Amino acid sequence: MSRTLCFWLFAASLLLLSSCAERTGDIVLRNGKIYTMDERKPWASAVVIVGNKITAVLTDDKDADGYIGTTTRVIDLRGRFAVPGFIDAHVHFAGAGAMLNNANLLTVSDAEGLRKEMSRVAGLLEGGEWISGGNWGAYEQWAQGAEKAGRRAGKRWEPNRWMIDSITSKNPCLLSSFDGALFLANTAALRAAGVETAKLPGMKVDARGRATGLIDRGSEALPILRKELQKHPKSEARLLNESRAALKMLAEYGIVEVHDITDDAQMKRYAKLQELGELTARVWMRADLSRAGEFVEKGIKMGTHPVTGEQDYYLRWGAFKGYIDGIMGNHTALFFEPYDDQPNNYGRYRLHTSDDPEFKTGNMEKMYGYLKTAHQGKFVANVHAIGDKGVALMLDTYERLMKDIGESLEGYRVIHAQVIRPEDFTRFKRLGVIAEVNPYHVADDMRWMEERIGHERCKGAYAFKSLLDNGATLTFGSDWAGSGAADYYNHPRYLLHAAVTRTTINRTPEGGWFPEQKISMHEALKAYTINAAYATFEQDVKGSITEGKLADLTVLDLNLMEIDPTDILKTNVEMTIVDGRIVFEK
Ligand SMILES: [Zn+2]
Repeated sequence: MSRTLCFWLFAASLLLLSSCAERTGDIVLRNGKIYTMDERKPWASAVVIVGNKITAVLTDDKDADGYIGTTTRVIDLRGRFAVPGFIDAHVHFAGAGAMLNNANLLTVSDAEGLRKEMSRVAGLLEGGEWISGGNWGAYEQWAQGAEKAGRRAGKRWEPNRWMIDSITSKNPCLLSSFDGALFLANTAALRAAGVETAKLPGMKVDARGRATGLIDRGSEALPILRKELQKHPKSEARLLNESRAALKMLAEYGIVEVHDITDDAQMKRYAKLQELGELTARVWMRADLSRAGEFVEKGIKMGTHPVTGEQDYYLRWGAFKGYIDGIMGNHTALFFEPYDDQPNNYGRYRLHTSDDPEFKTGNMEKMYGYLKTAHQGKFVANVHAIGDKGVALMLDTYERLMKDIGESLEGYRVIHAQVIRPEDFTRFKRLGVIAEVNPYHVADDMRWMEERIGHERCKGAYAFKSLLDNGATLTFGSDWAGSGAADYYNHPRYLLHAAVTRTTINRTPEGGWFPEQKISMHEALKAYTINAAYATFEQDVKGSITEGKLADLTVLDLNLMEIDPTDILKTNVEMTIVDGRIVFEK
């Protein structure tokens, strides 16, 4: 054998050895129905993960054998369905954690339910820590029909302190009804505030004249109790536990990343949890738009880690979050024509768009100034707009910005985009602006949408299909944890079900609400994965199951691409992988 040939054989064998070593997976998922969201290879049966990356996506399951070494964790999917991990493009993480570890009484309307929830919460807390929150009776009111009918019905369940005293003896409680009309204090709270035996107006009493703990909104006892509550702010340990509770839920629900609305205190908690190895979801932190100047001054860059200042795909400062108008729930979303059920009300502006203390008159220059400052610091903006006028004004402002900076507005979003005029649908694509929508809100709001804005305007409400048909890019957000009136479920099955069927969780109305706006499961999954990666400028590194991308995957027990849409609600998450790490396993 010639020396040259010898050399080449030697070199080739080295190459083979090294590539073999490289190919062995840390994790190999095989025998699955893997829907990759990568058009070049839509389906696969096996995925190889090395470190935090996907190194091979295999259509022939037999090929997986070559990637299995002695230390490889082989996961047999047994035909189950996997997708790129879900990205929830709209959460209020701190609020969600607070709701999970505080009293959530939305569904409570009897003593037994109250005791159950209070004992759950007391079990999470140290002695002396206060329990607040509540919103009891919200779902009971729903059950009575339309909102106004429920309110008129008048007959309401009235809890008292003795129902919860034995469970909460170590934790003073100040709870509220869903509409904030009534409050409930337990004995520990009444004592701490020194009002147990006080006879103040608005404090309800029993037949023997003892305070029941139930207090009217207007009672003088309430500010005294609230002052006492404020003297006991949550400890940092408790706040960290709230974040842990929220992260646990995300992992269990197959959500690998959230786009949050974040303040500095929560940013520090994220960084702390990351340091402890407990941050099990990626976070795109959106600071309030009014902080644009401050960020630019500090030299903070979009997409960078809050501590290292380096580009980061795990924990990073994201776009700025702004607001143009209010919300549908309390008739403050901004419309060109008044609400059908409130003929003098057109809705309201917000702090970012108004100098008026009542927010009745707008000042879009203010919004424009923020956008310009953000752009100066190479940040984009994600702005909340709900009513048709709110959306139109936002698009006008974006259009002005696009002309001014001379480029398409990639990464800019209209958050919610709930009600859109027919002529505005085409503008999203023209501007390059993303519609960050909340499909579960359809299932929730359809109960009263037509009553509030009428049939005609409802044609452009949550109009996901029209947005798609006009070339807009959609991302999905849950708006978790929701309002005082409703939980905004963040399990992906609720969002997918609402987008695909346009029915409530009770599967009404039959055929769906404005069924022409239903979208396909494929489009819904896109909005939940690759589009959300595009929305953070990271579509080349994540968002699909593609060789070389970050290893974020969710395994489900049902094949979403095959099942009947009415069964979407039965789907469960079996496994969640974030950055190559299994963070949840059923
Ligand atoms: Zn929100």
